[in-house]
Amino acid sequence: MCGCDVCKKETEVHTAACGFGAMSLGYCMECIRSGAEPEWGFEYLYGDVGNKGEGLAARVSDFKTWKDGKYWTWDEWVTWRRLPEQKHLDEEHDRQMAKMDAQAGLDREDPEPLPDFDTEDDN
Ligand SMILES: [Zn+2]
Repeated sequence: MCGCDVCKKETEVHTAACGFGAMSLGYCMECIRSGAEPEWGFEYLYGDVGNKGEGLAARVSDFKTWKDGKYWTWDEWVTWRRLPEQKHLDEEHDRQMAKMDAQAGLDREDPEPLPDFDTEDDN
């Protein structure tokens, strides 16, 4: 028997599509009924897809996760994540990104902005 990928309870799990992307995870019935997703997905949305939780589709507010023994809404989690005492998580994220860039041989300098694309100039 494996644990739930969301709440980590050692219980019967069911394979279901993850709400964050094209993958399947093991969910216990309580997490399926709650519509909860793993907290790592919240970190991914917060820091990799969004800019510290900004710039995301409104539907992310529909997500829930499991943390500290209870279900959290996205908005509750983001409020917690932005607390000054969670700053170390941003620093860890930046370290991980720099490490991955170094492994890939990438320079993390911001790229030059692309020129404005105006189709009328093409005529
Ligand atoms: Zn669960």
